[in-house]
Amino acid sequence: MKELKILYLYPDILELYGDFGNIQVLKYRLEKRNIKCIIDQYTIGDNEPHFCDYDLVFAGGGADQEQSILAKDLVNYKNNIKKAIDNGVFFLLICGAYQLFGKYYKDVNGNIIPGLEVFDYYTEAINDRKKRCIGNIVIDVTLNDTTTKVIGFENHGGQTFNISTPFGNVLYGNGNKFGDTHEGFFLNNVIGTYLHGPLLSKNPELADYIIKHCLDRKYNENIILESLDDKFENLCRDQLLNQFLTPHN
Ligand code: GLN
Repeated sequence: MKELKILYLYPDILELYGDFGNIQVLKYRLEKRNIKCIIDQYTIGDNEPHFCDYDLVFAGGGADQEQSILAKDLVNYKNNIKKAIDNGVFFLLICGAYQLFGKYYKDVNGNIIPGLEVFDYYTEAINDRKKRCIGNIVIDVTLNDTTTKVIGFENHGGQTFNISTPFGNVLYGNGNKFGDTHEGFFLNNVIGTYLHGPLLSKNPELADYIIKHCLDRKYNENIILESLDDKFENLCRDQLLNQFLTPHN
């Protein structure tokens, strides 16, 4: 029986707007295909995880306060995380976690939370607590040469700069900054995105892209995933896309 091993980082600290749902969706879609899904968790105080032993590492979003607490812990693993990324382990990073993989996050009060500096983007919150990128968002994402619409929900004060390879082009919502045309960061086996929602339940195609990527790497083959009945997911998507992308007078 094939299996995928997932590491869920800081589940007790980084969990906003259904981020945990992403793990549940991966597990559901794997088990429907008779693929075992092992989920390990790591949080502050636990033994150092062996990042390279995993197929996928997931971390969700969190407010500035939580970010500053865990950033001190996360930097201990900087080298091992870099190694895992170089080895091809897939990293799915949402919002607060996405920010912490860059150079730094400067919060509303001007405090700098150092990032892992795995990538050279950086994030700065504008110094007005009331101004945040909040709301539904739709982006165009290219997965294996096919463009698909990815739907989510964003809520961030942080404005992310110096993105060389964005995750998607914004069709509705803000993205990396207020009124940006780009959202997130996507490089080979790393997706960093502001999209909560949970992201993968609204975007089964993206969930399967990640699953296939991880299985292909692990088993060194070009796996054809058995298709699943996504009738309800697609009905929901149609409704949301119609609501967000069609002009209503
Ligand atoms: N604290 C960050 C910001 O407001 C991240 C928020 C989040 O993870 N939703 O930019």
